[in-house]
Amino acid sequence: MGNSIEVKDLTLNFGSVSVLKNMNLDVAEGEFVVLLGPSGCGKSTLLNCLAGLLDITDGQIWIKGKNVTWAEPSDRGIGMVFQSYALYPQMTVRGNLSFGLKNARVPQGEIDKRIARAAEILQIQPLLDRKPAALSGGQRQRVAIGRALVRDVDVFLFDEPLSNLDAKLRSELRVEIKRLHNQLGNTMVYVTHDQIEALTLADRIAVMKGGVIQQLAAPLEIYNRPANLFVAGFLGSPS
Ligand code: ADP
Ligand code: MG
Repeated sequence: MGNSIEVKDLTLNFGSVSVLKNMNLDVAEGEFVVLLGPSGCGKSTLLNCLAGLLDITDGQIWIKGKNVTWAEPSDRGIGMVFQSYALYPQMTVRGNLSFGLKNARVPQGEIDKRIARAAEILQIQPLLDRKPAALSGGQRQRVAIGRALVRDVDVFLFDEPLSNLDAKLRSELRVEIKRLHNQLGNTMVYVTHDQIEALTLADRIAVMKGGVIQQLAAPLEIYNRPANLFVAGFLGSPS
């Protein structure tokens, strides 16, 4: 299987501050890679670079064999889910799910089909005609995931999608995200600072500190053979 995402010598500076430092990362097709690290280490910045929401300072980003370093976000074949749900409050769930597709001139029949499928997978059929204000936090985050799902892309980027939820919902949705990945076989890059999430979801974990990947390996490998004291300490400390 080929690589779905290739990050080559990526550097991102904000002014004179280097936030990502000459980073390299390959994600295989269908792989679930978790970016794990403390607040401020550059996880969101890396995701935003992949999504095309930030101009990088140096290096290249390839997605599915295409150099997308300077491609528009909508041309990268990715779907992104943010930490805050960012749903349109005046629209119903159905409206939120169809908005991006209408803009992309996807035919209505196809929109309906994709919404029905996403709603079934995420079990939000009964919510389609409600507005976000009438939903719980967990339901809103499902809709946010649904918005990535209906785009019918192979690569999903998740930025701490569960961090605003309580512990019970977090563990429920964690299981669902795992199931979703098993079912769809898509490529996932998932940001978290939660060790449990990383250990249970990831095929491989990239442990980050200060804009540098400290170790990139399978969860057990990282847990049993941490590359350095930082990795050992971070995995061992309670979240
Ligand atoms: P994480 O998601 O791992 O918590 P971020 O990627 O959000 O970290 O941020 C990494 C670093 O970049 C932090 O030091 C942050 O203050 C800085 N940073 C993030 N966005 C900007 C910006 N727009 N301008 C300047 N500095 C930023
Ligand atoms: Mg972040």
